This record gives sequence, structure tokens and C-alpha cells, in this order.
Amino acid sequence: MNCDILYLVIPCYNEQEVLPETARRLEAKLGGMIESGIVSPQSRVLFVDDGSRDATWELISRLHEKNPLFSGLKLSHNQGHQNALIAGLMQAKELCDMAVSLDADLQDDVEVIDRFVTEYYNGCDVIYGVRSSRAKDTVFKRTTAVGYYKFLKFMGVEIVENHADYRLMSRRALEALAQYDEVNLFLRGIVPLIGFKTTVVPYERNERFAGESKYPLKKMLAFAIDGITSFSVKPIRLITWIGVLIFGISGIALLWLLLLRLFGYTVAGWTTLMGSVWALGGIQLLSLGVIGEYIGKIYKETKHRPRFIVDQFLNRRE
Ligand code: UDP
Ligand code: MG
Repeated sequence: MNCDILYLVIPCYNEQEVLPETARRLEAKLGGMIESGIVSPQSRVLFVDDGSRDATWELISRLHEKNPLFSGLKLSHNQGHQNALIAGLMQAKELCDMAVSLDADLQDDVEVIDRFVTEYYNGCDVIYGVRSSRAKDTVFKRTTAVGYYKFLKFMGVEIVENHADYRLMSRRALEALAQYDEVNLFLRGIVPLIGFKTTVVPYERNERFAGESKYPLKKMLAFAIDGITSFSVKPIRLITWIGVLIFGISGIALLWLLLLRLFGYTVAGWTTLMGSVWALGGIQLLSLGVIGEYIGKIYKETKHRPRFIVDQFLNRRE
């Protein structure tokens, strides 16, 4: 019988309300899997504390003291969900055969992990958890998410629809992931680029068990823009085309104006003048903004700053 080491990687940012329950459920889940010989007793639940300001780290270290099944990785300060996740995965990569990433808030059904592991033993390297429905989301989140995935596709970003960061990756997939050293992390976009044999496991996503969402609208928007500009140069190309179009239109307009002049109708419209001033100004500012967004990305990448800094790593090997 196969018996590989599984790491569950969970980024946590101010999750003291939900952490005890999450730990309880994961302990039952992973403990059960170890007992039934599906995964090795060396398997761990790895909590990554993303610079929380509440008692999250105290809770993690207490869990670790009580039960070696729990490991903890403390980042030096808040680095954001994606960076916390990569920090955990890169740490796990050294110790595991496969790693599942999931959120701390119990939105992802932990019972699905068995199916992930089965697919792993069937030879898959990347297994995506995909939501079967968004019935439990707010109307706002649902409509924006659906629209966003459509837009991403239109922009040419290859992405698994309705997949958040709930997935299993084998060790060699993690090693491949380690080679993508970009600072502007959008894991959902990078993982499909790795290749290997992949599959999809549908599951029902729940509401947050306790605590508040750590993704306010502002962070969500930033994440959405990152997703597009980190993977696609289509927006810049679109601007070029808008430029070409407007240049063409202005040529025709010029011809028309000249004709008007020739035939003596020179009462120029104030409305058209003001209209074009505003429209062109707007388009130019928007275009500058998009180009600026890319330059900002280049600026960040060239600095090659570390994506995360580890403060402490608690891990016991029996
Ligand atoms: N998270 C993190 N760092 C951050 C923000 C969030 O590690 O700066 C973690 C958070 O603790 C949770 C996961 O990322 O485990 C997803 O966040 P959340 O559930 O709040 O997002 P939502 O599900 O509302 O999109
Ligand atoms: Mg959540």
C-alpha cells in the first residue's frame, strides 16, 4: 500500500475565532487518514501565520506543543494571502510528497481531501478543487466572480473556473512552482502553466465558519487587477487599437470639417468640441493608467525582493 506524506498548508491572518475549530476538524481528518494508512504518520497540518495581530500565533504554538501533528510557520509580518501560501508550500516542499492548500475559515469542505489523495495516487500531480455552485455566496460576490472569470478568459489568461486556492500539488509540481520566482503572485494563474497530469474535483463551498473575510473590496479589486496584468498584455494591445481607431475617426472628422469650411458652414459646435476634449482626455488618462500598471509591475519584479521572510518554524519529527 502507498503511504506518502501529506501536508495541509493553511495561511492564517487574524483567525483566532476560527482556528480552534479548524484545528479540531483537521486533526480528526488527517488523524483518521493516518490511522487508516492512506497517508504517512509524518503528515502534518502546517499553519502559516501571516503576521497576525491577534492570538493566532499563540494558538498555533499551543497546538504544536500539544500535538506534533500541527506545525507552524510564522512570517515576520503580513505579506498577503498569496505570499503566505507560497511560503507554506515552499516550506512543505522539503518535507512532503504532496501538499493541499486551503483557507483557515473552513469554507473548503475538508472531506474532499480524501478524493484529492485518491487522484494523487492515481498519478495526478495537480488536483483542483472546483466549486460546484456559488449558492452560498452573496449576490454581489457571485456576479462579480462570474464576470471576472469571463473577462480573464477574454484577456487570454488560462485559469480553472470557480477554483480558489484549494488544491493538491505533488512534490514535483511544487518544485516546478518554485521556479516561478515572480513577486506579483497570482497562484491560480501560475499553477495551470506548470503542466503535468491534472484533474478537477468538484465540491460544495460553505460560508465562513467564524470571523470576518480578510478580503475587503479594496483587496479583492487589487487581486483582480493583478490576475489580469500579471498574465496578459492584452490591455496594452487594446489601448493601441483604441488609439488606431480614434486616429482613423479623427482623419474622417478632419475631412468633414474641411468640407464644412469649403461650403461655408463654419458655425462650429461647442458641444462637439467639449465632448471630444473630455472623451480624449479620459481615454488618454485611462491608457496611461494601464501602462503605468505594467511599469509598476516591472519595477517590483526588477527589485527581486523576497516574497516572504520566515520568523519561526515549528515542526516536530517523530
Ligand atoms: N489571509 C492571509 N493573509 C492576508 C489575508 C488573508 O493569510 O493578508 C488568509 C486568511 O486567513 C484565510 C485565507 O487567506 O485563511 C483567505 O481569506 P478569506 O477567507 O478572508 O478570503 P475570502 O474567502 O473571504 O475571499
Ligand atoms: Mg474565506
